[in-house]
Amino acid sequence: MLLSIIIPVYNEAESLPALMARLRPIVGGLDCDYELIFVNDGSTDETSRMLRELSVVDHCVKVLSFSRNFGHQTAITAGLDFANGDATAVMDADLQDPPELLPEMLRLMRQGYDVVSAQRQARPGDGVWKRCTASVFYWFMRRFVDQRLLPEVGDFRLFSRTAVLAIRRFREQHRFMRGLVAWLGLKEAIIPFQREERAHGTTKYPLFKMLQLAWTAVSSFSALPLRLSTNLGFAIILFGIGYLVFSIFSALITKTTIQGWTSLVCLQIIFSGAILMAVGLVGNYVARIYEESKQRPLYVVSDLQNLPMPVAGPERGVVLEPSVPVEPAVDHPSPVRVRR
Ligand code: UDP
Ligand code: MG
Repeated sequence: MLLSIIIPVYNEAESLPALMARLRPIVGGLDCDYELIFVNDGSTDETSRMLRELSVVDHCVKVLSFSRNFGHQTAITAGLDFANGDATAVMDADLQDPPELLPEMLRLMRQGYDVVSAQRQARPGDGVWKRCTASVFYWFMRRFVDQRLLPEVGDFRLFSRTAVLAIRRFREQHRFMRGLVAWLGLKEAIIPFQREERAHGTTKYPLFKMLQLAWTAVSSFSALPLRLSTNLGFAIILFGIGYLVFSIFSALITKTTIQGWTSLVCLQIIFSGAILMAVGLVGNYVARIYEESKQRPLYVVSDLQNLPMPVAGPERGVVLEPSVPVEPAVDHPSPVRVRR
């Protein structure tokens, strides 16, 4: 049996030595073969060099380098496309997902589960803000979008081959892996665990990226925001009709219409805001349809280490052929700038 472990990495030079030191004895002690697939998501620090060195001395270390940063969720997708294992684990590089859980996850998979998910019991490293936003996010997603989405379950999971083949069929541009797994409805086991603090480096998920992921999660699984905006529009119309009756009454009976200026301005603001918001929401969905209709590749792999060039490339994934240098590389004179 072969276990593939997918580790997306983005500027994790500080975390890699500690990760390897903790992961190696665990995978070495398993009663199966293993491969570590690092997906280098356009790192700009020492990560690329370190991964290259690791892959030279250890053929179980396989590296897939993107041409630029495509994001965590896309990195997981590419890892799943290249994984050969009978079981495939996905874990972060910062040791917040303890590798010690892997033997227990494998044991459960052998009992017939297609997905084994780790559920966080605590988030000691995360501040109050991240904890609150995460709770609101999971509550909202479960309440309004998909009941099957498990609270506090991130991307630390073990998938059977069946699950990996099923997930590979999803080729949408805006990806929320947890949602896709929940949508599939596979037989799932859950292991609770204490999430540790990030040992080295800083989070690669700043607020903006988190909000982007949250919006992808909502918009790619539900048209709820559109429905909400319709309902809001309807409520405003009802309110408007009430106010219309009041205005006519004021004009004809009490003859105090000039006093209505303040309320007119207020209504104008409310209506303009509501209309703009609704148009913006529709626009956002249209933009996503537009992006999806272009059928662009999900990622571009510029370098593979210890992995064969795929014969038929992954669907919607580009793997660049290694270019043969015609002339030996020279230091460019000053006006020429080289882009990484
Ligand atoms: N990551 C990635 N691409 C990105 C952002 C993050 O591959 O654009 C990787 C990162 O190196 C780490 C994992 O995704 O291995 C989770 O990121 P992080 O630990 O920073 O997220 P957090 O735990 O703070 O939510
Ligand atoms: Mg982390």
